[in-house]
Amino acid sequence: ASDNAAIVVIGTGLAGYGLVRELRKHDKDTPVIIITADDGRAYSKPMLSTGFTKNTDADALAQKDAGGMGEDLNASVWTLTKVTAIDTAAQTITIGDKETQVHYKKLVLALGADVIRPPIQGNALEYVYSVNDLLDYDDFRTAVAKNNVKKVCIIGGGLIGCEFTNDLINGGIETETVDPLGYCLPTLLPEVAGKAVQAGLEAKGAKFHFGPLVTEVNKTNDGLAVSLNNGETINCDLVLSAVGVRPQVKLAQDAGITVNRGIATNRLLETSAPNVYAMGDCAEVAGHVLVYVAPLMAQARALAKTLSGEATEVSYPAMPVTIKTPACPVTVSPPPRDAQGNWEIEQDGLNVVARFVGNDGTLLGFALTGEGTKQKMALQKQLPAIMP
Ligand code: FAD
Repeated sequence: ASDNAAIVVIGTGLAGYGLVRELRKHDKDTPVIIITADDGRAYSKPMLSTGFTKNTDADALAQKDAGGMGEDLNASVWTLTKVTAIDTAAQTITIGDKETQVHYKKLVLALGADVIRPPIQGNALEYVYSVNDLLDYDDFRTAVAKNNVKKVCIIGGGLIGCEFTNDLINGGIETETVDPLGYCLPTLLPEVAGKAVQAGLEAKGAKFHFGPLVTEVNKTNDGLAVSLNNGETINCDLVLSAVGVRPQVKLAQDAGITVNRGIATNRLLETSAPNVYAMGDCAEVAGHVLVYVAPLMAQARALAKTLSGEATEVSYPAMPVTIKTPACPVTVSPPPRDAQGNWEIEQDGLNVVARFVGNDGTLLGFALTGEGTKQKMALQKQLPAIMP
């Protein structure tokens, strides 16, 4: 690539825009092109699961359009433009149907994560929604209004499923939530804490089906029937699938860039290809796949310095995640995946303080619910950094 080629960023989520905002603090002039397959409006993705509570539609959640972002960031933002290939030797990307090539000096992949689609049969799959960006959110809200929806069946009782359960209830919509595991937030919380969240949501009217899988969604005379593999049927008006997300790796993989669970990078956010970086939900940074906002902000700060000439490794402090279930608030800092130790649990009704203590007595994680969340600051200080 020629020396005057641009820094090209693919993705206008919190990662892509966040990076360029940080970059402009160090470097006002290097040409930057930001490319997105969507409409490029800036928005805070975590707000997608509080929209019924706050009664905000997609336009209200959008903070700025692509043109406004381009002006703010002194960048050119190309919307509705899908990148279909990367040539890491020629340092070009291919966009659109016309096979246009664009040179890059540095390329940043901020591609986000794809929703996982559970294998469901039936004749009403067009009523199964998932909400992973502003356009999905607009579609889902439109469908709720158009179909006069009174009850939604939510597939998945993890972070996104529980947040939407709480949000829809706050918006006056009934919910039935299905998860094959045994309690709310099963991959993040110990059972006592997950049961507290379940009880908090049930007290607001939520219904849960723990254990079964959803097999089919079919039309009935006056709505939908969701079939479970335990023989039960849930009648509802719309289905929201929230079984999780998976880092988007295909574009990188097809280009021969090393991919594990995410696009693999070192602590400089460098992928296996020269001058190609990855960050945000699509990236696996030194073995960590963390699909949350705090890690991508840390990445944006470090990579902005690196791109402006001061090579800077990313560090992660302890980064507890707050789950937006006001019926039973949750803050969790899961222990590392290979941690050896035990949960030590204090419980008083919906209020749980669970500490994951390593075999040598050090605190390695915690899960707090209800009034227990007040312990967050004190416990966070005792946690080791995720990546010092
Ligand atoms: P995205 O926002 O998904 O952006 C990806 C971008 O890449 C898009 O612009 C897309 O168009 C573009 N793109 C992808 N492929 C191509 C291509 N081939 N060509 C061109 N463009 C392409 N995290 C928290 O920390 N706290 C929370 O409370 C929280 N709540 C959440 C609630 C919900 C409902 C959801 C869905 C997530 C939540 N998260 C939360 C997670 C957090 O929102 C994400 O980690 C973060 O927004 C990811 O940002 P990103 O920029 O990496 O990806």
